[in-house]
Amino acid sequence: LRLELHERITKFVAENLGLSKDVVEEIVRACLDVDRLHRIERVKHHEVPKELLLNYAVKARKRYMKGDLRAAARLCGELLHYIQDSLIPAPRGRRGKALHISIESRSVKYDPESIPREMLKPVRGLRGIKAILRVLRPLRDPRLVVERATLYSYAIAAAVFDSIEAPPEVDACASLAREYLSSAWRREVAVSMLLLSVLQTIFFARSMLLKPLILLCIAMLIGFAVFVLARLSIAMYARKCDTFVKNFSGSRFLVLTYMLINLLLYFVVGLKIVAILAPIAISLTILLRVPGARMIEENRWWYRYECRAPPHLCAY
Ligand SMILES: [Zn+2]
Repeated sequence: LRLELHERITKFVAENLGLSKDVVEEIVRACLDVDRLHRIERVKHHEVPKELLLNYAVKARKRYMKGDLRAAARLCGELLHYIQDSLIPAPRGRRGKALHISIESRSVKYDPESIPREMLKPVRGLRGIKAILRVLRPLRDPRLVVERATLYSYAIAAAVFDSIEAPPEVDACASLAREYLSSAWRREVAVSMLLLSVLQTIFFARSMLLKPLILLCIAMLIGFAVFVLARLSIAMYARKCDTFVKNFSGSRFLVLTYMLINLLLYFVVGLKIVAILAPIAISLTILLRVPGARMIEENRWWYRYECRAPPHLCAY
C-alpha cells in the first residue's frame, strides 16, 4: 500500500483503541519505517509468511506483558504494515505489477475514517490472531482492501494491547481446569501414577547394568521423566493460579512425549514394558480430559491468570 494510506489506517486504528499519544505515534512511525528503511525488500511485504506474522504478534505481546510499551508499539506497527500489505496482490510478473499498482493507486481515495466505528471489533489471544491470519488474502476491490486492512489492523492491535489480566471467559477456563483436577483425587492419581512409572523405570534400569548403552539411554529417560514429574507436580500443587496455568500447559505434551519414548523401549524390553506404560497412560488420560485445557494452553502467556472467574463462563 501507499505510505499515506498505511499512515491513515494505522493512525485511525491506534487512536480508536484509546492508546496514549506516544504509543499511537510509535506504532505509526514503525509502520511507515518498514517502507522507509528497507525499501529493497519492498516486494516481499506482500508475501510475508504467516508464521512470521504470528511471531511478530507473539513478540509484541510479550514485550507488552513485560511493560515495554515502546517495543510493543514498534513490533505492532511493523506487523500492521505487513497485514495491510498482504491484502493487495503482490507485484509479481508484469501483469501482477500492473494489477498491484492499479489497486494501490485506486485504494488511496478510500478513507478508513468512513468505516462505521461499530464495525471495529477486537479479537482475543493467540486464537483470535490465528483466525485473522487464516482469512488474510489479497483482494482486488480497492474499497474492500481499505476496509479489511482497517478492520484486521484494529482487531490485531486490540489483541496485542489487550488487558494483561485474563478476561473472564478465559480466566474461567483456568478455574474450570483447576477445579476439575482438584476433585475426585484426579491430581493425586495423575502425579502418583507418573511417579510410579519413574520408579518402575529405575527398577528396570537395574537389570540393564551389563548393557552400558541401553543403561545410558534409560538414565536419560529417567532424567526427562523426573523433569516432567516435577513440572506436573508444580502445576497441580501450585498455590498461584498463574503458576498452575504456565506449568500445566506444557505438561500434557511432555507426558505424551514421555509415553512415546517409553513405547520405543518396547523394542528393547519387549512386553514387560506394559508395566511402565500403564501408569503413564492413566496419568495422560486424566490430563487429556481436563475441560478448558485447550483454551488456557493456547493463551497461556497471553494473559496473567487469577482463577477468579466462575468455571461456567469458560468458552472453550
Ligand atoms: Zn510495504
